[in-house]
Amino acid sequence: MPAIQTFAYDVLIIGAGGAGLRAAIEATARGATVGLICKSLLGKAHTVMAEGGMAAAMANVDDRDSWQVHFADTMRGGQYVNNWRMAELHAREAPDRVRELEAWGAVFDRTDDGRILQRNFGGHRYPRLAHVGDRTGLELIRTLQDHTVHMGVVVHMEHTVIELLRDGGRIAGALAYDRERGRFHLFAARAVVLATGGIGRAYRVTSNSWESTGDGHALAYRAGAELIDMEFVQFHPTGMVWPPSVKGILVTEGVRGEGGILTNREGRRFMFDDIPENYRAQTAADAEEGWRYTQGDRNARRPPELLTRDHVARCIVREIKEGRGSPHGGVFLDIAWIKEKLPNAAEHIRRKLPSMYHQFKELADLDITREPMEVGPTTHYIMGGIRVDAETQQSSVPGLFAAGECAAGINGANRLGGNSLSDLLVFGKRAGEHAADWARSQGPTGIDDALVDAVMRGALEPFDRGGDSENPYAIQSTLQDTMQDLVGIVRTGPELEEALARIDGLWTRTGRAGVSGHREYHAGWHTCLDLRNLLVVAEAIARSALERPESRGGHFRDDFPARDPACATFNVVVVRGPDGHMQVSRAPIPPMPAALVRIIEEEA
Ligand SMILES: Cc1cc2nc3c(=O)[nH]c(=O)nc-3n(C[C@H](O)[C@H](O)[C@H](O)COP(=O)(O)OP(=O)(O)OC[C@H]3O[C@@H](n4cnc5c(N)ncnc54)[C@H](O)[C@@H]3O)c2cc1C
Repeated sequence: MPAIQTFAYDVLIIGAGGAGLRAAIEATARGATVGLICKSLLGKAHTVMAEGGMAAAMANVDDRDSWQVHFADTMRGGQYVNNWRMAELHAREAPDRVRELEAWGAVFDRTDDGRILQRNFGGHRYPRLAHVGDRTGLELIRTLQDHTVHMGVVVHMEHTVIELLRDGGRIAGALAYDRERGRFHLFAARAVVLATGGIGRAYRVTSNSWESTGDGHALAYRAGAELIDMEFVQFHPTGMVWPPSVKGILVTEGVRGEGGILTNREGRRFMFDDIPENYRAQTAADAEEGWRYTQGDRNARRPPELLTRDHVARCIVREIKEGRGSPHGGVFLDIAWIKEKLPNAAEHIRRKLPSMYHQFKELADLDITREPMEVGPTTHYIMGGIRVDAETQQSSVPGLFAAGECAAGINGANRLGGNSLSDLLVFGKRAGEHAADWARSQGPTGIDDALVDAVMRGALEPFDRGGDSENPYAIQSTLQDTMQDLVGIVRTGPELEEALARIDGLWTRTGRAGVSGHREYHAGWHTCLDLRNLLVVAEAIARSALERPESRGGHFRDDFPARDPACATFNVVVVRGPDGHMQVSRAPIPPMPAALVRIIEEEA
């Protein structure tokens, strides 16, 4: 094996978004030595893009809120296939995690009497999202990052992990390359926390950054961990649709929380046409009641634009498919209309939604205080991911932990907006704590040189094949089209089978993908390595979607359009079989304790 630089830590954290940073802080606080690796520069993780806020039942704006209501909302939103213990822990612990963030210096928007302000969001019964205008992720990252640096965590920026390494059954470290020189680095650790975020780049239209290539999902899978719920992908209802260069960029749900309405080309507010039975009692009877809700009237119910994301996205797709869409293939999202209600509407919109105002002004030459936006669904979040223990966040591989978007369970079939940022804090903390404890309890691990050598050789194969072979960008582009067209918002069995056949072909082509030149900042080579992760994720989503013959949350089957109670009893599990092929099975959901069932019944 050629000499490579080696680092050793008690706990290695892969990912510097909200989950990774919070885990790093906690593991360090418990006395562990911690190394943190991220693909881009510190502060650039995808979390920085989060806009609307973090959900926590602090009851600052409406004193009827409580952890119990938050728990019930999360379970209803997830259509009851959530890991109920994670949903409970999240609802109970989120308020403390938000207050802790404030104590570390996060400057939230305030109520008139100086408490953290909370805003409305889809599926949350009461105003619950602590926020900083529409730049909440920036404040969260800034605060956690400052704290991480002060605690002395060693950060390896612009390093990409390509494989996890095991010692027998236990995790022992990871192999990474740096972007600048393309050199390999070995990281030995007794515990590893995956906090690598989402998978959006497997699809053509996405709100996710270039980093979201499902690395953690695939690294865990190859290391032998189980993935669950991979069929549940969230398509956010409102992404930009025009101009083409910005298609998919998110338009925060905060716009609807502030009173924005969805209309079709006929000017009809179509969301009133289709209100699901289980939300009817919580939804406004008319536009007037909906408006009063957004302005904080405790006696009003939420407008239908604030129904869960899966439902709103499907209603938008229906309008477009039936010919009532906007000129560029979306529908209209109108916040400018509130000038009928507020004398200083333009200033109000610019203050409440500064990023949205600038985003449309700069990118689409449109003033949202005067005109409606054009929006359509965009791939946004994956509810599925690494199966973890609710208390410790440990995966099925000893010593391997996961937190944040790459872990699964809390959201079930659909995530409520705002629940991710608080998830990062609650479960990032737990992962850091338990990873540090695990590392302390374990003896030393060893890493086999031959294994490291084989991983490096495999990673360099694209250079052996040279630049005249298959083009990695072309393969990724075909994959994105396949996922967008065949494994998107509306799915059918034959289309999923067709997607799997195409993915199989893309695996073969990836085995022939080649590049030429030096290893420094070599984006083509990086794409070759990304493809191995993207294809695992794509295959896992398509296979899991076939295994669930019903429609639930983010997973809609045109050939099984109804929810099937028999399918509410299991999660779909994906694991790498002994022959290297993907195996799919069903894991029964454990029965919920009576006390939690009662909460759900009382809050229905
Ligand atoms: C535009 C937008 C707005 C959003 N707004 C909200 C909101 O208001 N409220 C809310 O709750 N949620 C929101 N979300 C969702 C939320 O932001 C994400 O789910 C969350 O930030 C994910 O955080 P994370 O820590 O899991 O991962 P990320 O923040 O995605 O960080 C992943 C980290 O892993 C690193 N990484 C990945 N692969 C590797 C590898 N192979 N080697 C080394 N490092 C690696 C990356 O470099 C990065 O540092 C929004 C999402 C988007 C796209």
